[in-house]
Amino acid sequence: MPLYEYICPTCNHRFEKLQSMSAAGADCPNCEQPAKRAISVFAAVTKGGSSEMPTSMGPLPPLSGGGCCGGGCGCGP
Ligand SMILES: [Zn+2]
Repeated sequence: MPLYEYICPTCNHRFEKLQSMSAAGADCPNCEQPAKRAISVFAAVTKGGSSEMPTSMGPLPPLSGGGCCGGGCGCGP
């Protein structure tokens, strides 16, 4: 059963619920108003939420060892 994320438009409460694919929806446990299912990609939901997307993967760490000049053959610095 997939886990869906819901956002309540009334109180902005976000919660998750295990539901079948055919489930109609869920009510907010906070204010008991019908909540909107959030699609897993939050392209449209940028309302004051903190972005948890990493800005980048960052540079790859240098490979140590492996091949020539990895320190094992003495030709490196
Ligand atoms: Zn609510």
